[in-house]
Amino acid sequence: MRIGLEIHLQLPTASKLFCSCSTSGNGRNTSICPTCLGFPGSRPRLNRRALEIGIQISKFLECKIADTTWFSRKTYFYPDLPKNFQITQYDSPLGVDGRFHVGDKIIRIMRVHLEEDPGRIKRVGKSGEEVSLIDYNRSGVPLVEIVTAPDIASPTEARDFMTDILIELRHLVGLSGKDEQTVRVDANISVGEERVEIKNILGLKNLERGLSFEASRQAKLIKAGKRIIRETRHFDEERKVTISARGKETEEDYGYIAEPDLGIFNVGEMARTMVPVETPLKMAARLASKYAIDRATSRQIVMTSRTLADLFERLCGTIPPEVAAAWILGPLSSNRDLLENRKGDTLACDIERVLQAVVSGEMTDSEARLKINALGKGESVDIAAEGTEDGQLRELVVACIDENPEILSDFKTNRRVANFVIGQIIRTTKGKYASSEIVEAVNKEIERRLRKEQS
Ligand SMILES: [Zn+2]
Repeated sequence: MRIGLEIHLQLPTASKLFCSCSTSGNGRNTSICPTCLGFPGSRPRLNRRALEIGIQISKFLECKIADTTWFSRKTYFYPDLPKNFQITQYDSPLGVDGRFHVGDKIIRIMRVHLEEDPGRIKRVGKSGEEVSLIDYNRSGVPLVEIVTAPDIASPTEARDFMTDILIELRHLVGLSGKDEQTVRVDANISVGEERVEIKNILGLKNLERGLSFEASRQAKLIKAGKRIIRETRHFDEERKVTISARGKETEEDYGYIAEPDLGIFNVGEMARTMVPVETPLKMAARLASKYAIDRATSRQIVMTSRTLADLFERLCGTIPPEVAAAWILGPLSSNRDLLENRKGDTLACDIERVLQAVVSGEMTDSEARLKINALGKGESVDIAAEGTEDGQLRELVVACIDENPEILSDFKTNRRVANFVIGQIIRTTKGKYASSEIVEAVNKEIERRLRKEQS
């Protein structure tokens, strides 16, 4: 099975692609001007920010970026498009021949280009007496279109690809958090020879459903010895089926011509000087290979919070990565809101010292957990392990465990064996220490030895 996707995403700019109208107009037809309504004599001017974001996305997707780029008019007549052509990019996309990794697989990116959104049509009224209302607030809103090669092998993989690319793009250019429901995708899918396009699928769930339905429809036709027709279909969200829409137009049907009002843009220099950003999944991949932790763990750390991921890296400087990962995903992640609010070097430094004390066996896990909770709340905490324990008491504990080494292995299945040591020490010290002090000293010593055994 071969699946290719065309993804349309709205770029997070304040104004439209070719005029200064706001992209967030309230009501209907409130954010419009002669340019985005296509009045004769009006002239488009390119939004520089949209161009920058487009280049940033192309660069991130490892595309080849030419030195110059221009726009084209895609001619078609429809009421949502009053100037009778859409300004898009045809023979000069921003980026070509890129790629994106999903796990170990590479999905090739054919092209990345900018285009304007048309208006929105709403049909109202009784059947047979319907009228169409048009809202042009959307008209001219900047979109980026990302086209993949048909490298995706299943509907699930298509969804994984979309999930991952949105995580990255959201971080890279600040797409809105709602894009998973609002992202619009055209998908082409071929189970046999002929490919079928499904237009205008909204959201990732529908994408997976639409593709699954279409895959089984095509498989059934092939099995029955019937021909699959090359066509465009729509996904019906209610009935969860795809429905034939029209014969597929070829690109020539649109009569593309170069857009004369915008000119040519030198983007090569812009692309070369742009500083690459480390996106979440790239960071996760780097952490996994640098610190030899598994991919799922590193992804979980990065996706939980960037602050925690940075803290994890810092901790790996002084404590074993697997210990750092366990604390990051455990006690530290349950304190993450507090940690986010108290970003700062002192806090990270305090946490690091607490965990170092755990690793060296000076502090028990539960003691460290209490200290971390207190640090998260912003309380002042004495970082040193509660080393008030008498040196003499520790010596007694060490001697007693040395004499009974089987306790260590028994302790793993039955923590109560510690009571044997505790009892012995209570007897020999005859009330010199509080029993809680003895219990703590014994547990601490056993845990320290077990940790040492593991590492
Ligand atoms: Zn406008």
